[in-house]
Amino acid sequence: MMNKLPPLRTGKPRVEQGYLQPLGGLGIPFSLIEGAAPGPCLLVTAGVHGSEYCSIETAVRLLKRKPEEIKGTLVVLPILNVQGFRQRSIYIMPEDGKNLNRMFPGDPDGSTSERLAHWLVTEVYPQVDAYLDLHGGDLDESLAPFTLFPSGCERSRALATAFGLPVVVAAGGEGYTINAAYRVGVPSILPEVSGNGLWGEDTVEEMTAGVERVMHHLGMIAGPVKQAPEDGLQVVTMWVPSAPCDGLWYAAKEVSEPVAVGEVLGEIRDVFGSVFATVRSEKEGFILYRLTSLAVNKGEALLGVGTPLAG
Ligand SMILES: [Zn+2]
Repeated sequence: MMNKLPPLRTGKPRVEQGYLQPLGGLGIPFSLIEGAAPGPCLLVTAGVHGSEYCSIETAVRLLKRKPEEIKGTLVVLPILNVQGFRQRSIYIMPEDGKNLNRMFPGDPDGSTSERLAHWLVTEVYPQVDAYLDLHGGDLDESLAPFTLFPSGCERSRALATAFGLPVVVAAGGEGYTINAAYRVGVPSILPEVSGNGLWGEDTVEEMTAGVERVMHHLGMIAGPVKQAPEDGLQVVTMWVPSAPCDGLWYAAKEVSEPVAVGEVLGEIRDVFGSVFATVRSEKEGFILYRLTSLAVNKGEALLGVGTPLAG
């Protein structure tokens, strides 16, 4: 066990694998693959959310890449939230009950997720040239594939375009992996493929093809790479209504369905059928993802509406 990543660039082709213990406790698996030729350093993380298995399996397969295949260095951390993976947690790190992807840039004196975020921001992100944080719909969410990038960062937007999923989301807000990486100067994106924690050959291949398109874009692998679907890329912003109360969630719209302003997106009812809340869209656009769980708690995200940006 180590508490630091090995040097990322030595000039010699190599593979280093093992477990890191930046906080003590469970080891976080990693692999570092340095190619013979110089090139950029790409960081790939997955398992920030421990039950988004398509992204985790995609990262696990990246561990098998060989130095002969790449220029530069590929660093893969396939399961950041190890305890969450083992316990099949939704969103949270079991150690402190917090969502790691809301804790960035973290706190060296905080709880487990805050300290893990701080370690990534101070020890890992500054060493790399680009960053992919792989996600998907968690056990309680369905989604159509999209890629988030930190709004205003053109280099990140170029990575999102290269990844090749049909929808690209300009994401604002703080607390997220990719926004924290952008703050320290690293272009970064967060692709989401598959929903309800499901994974299979088709979805893992879809995500892997995106990683390869980014590696090709960065000059790390030679072509040809699998082309992205031709039906054009949409750039959107996302609006996320949260549940105004606890209850049972009945969505009125499916993933990818268009919505108009004022249209009903769903209802929260009690077990006897009384409607506690009717959720209407404040935006025109289409459904990017939605909660599929019947149970909902006040404050939880119900869905995301994507609104196309001009240009
Ligand atoms: Zn996630």
